[in-house]
Amino acid sequence: MTLFEKIASRQIPADIVYEDDLVIAFRDVGPQAPTHVLVVPKRAIPRIGEAAPSDHAVLGHLLIKAAEVARKLGIDQTGYRLVINNGPDGGESVPHLHVHLLGGRRMDWPPG
Ligand code: AMP
Repeated sequence: MTLFEKIASRQIPADIVYEDDLVIAFRDVGPQAPTHVLVVPKRAIPRIGEAAPSDHAVLGHLLIKAAEVARKLGIDQTGYRLVINNGPDGGESVPHLHVHLLGGRRMDWPPG
């Protein structure tokens, strides 16, 4: 099981802010912004580079729900950033696809 599958199955505690049949969203344990949530498909895809055409629906759902969580947490008007890290140069540390939802402060561009 991946770390995030263990969170989804309640083997590891997390501050869960949204859940449905396909995705779970919980606060990042090492927040990089006042609001930092991970939105994760429950069925593990290692990384976006390994997503298949059959993952089309769940990937769309993931982004729709990330925006819904942003509204729920009150950062939709001020703005936010969605990030997917892929592989070593992308900064990926957990090999279970997830979208970072970051908000509550002004983001820099280009990212570090
Ligand atoms: P990434 O580096 O894109 O793979 O992102 C993995 C994220 O998972 C990092 O931002 C970590 O802080 C976060 N993380 C690791 N362990 C946990 C945990 N137990 N609960 C919540 N977030 C975690």
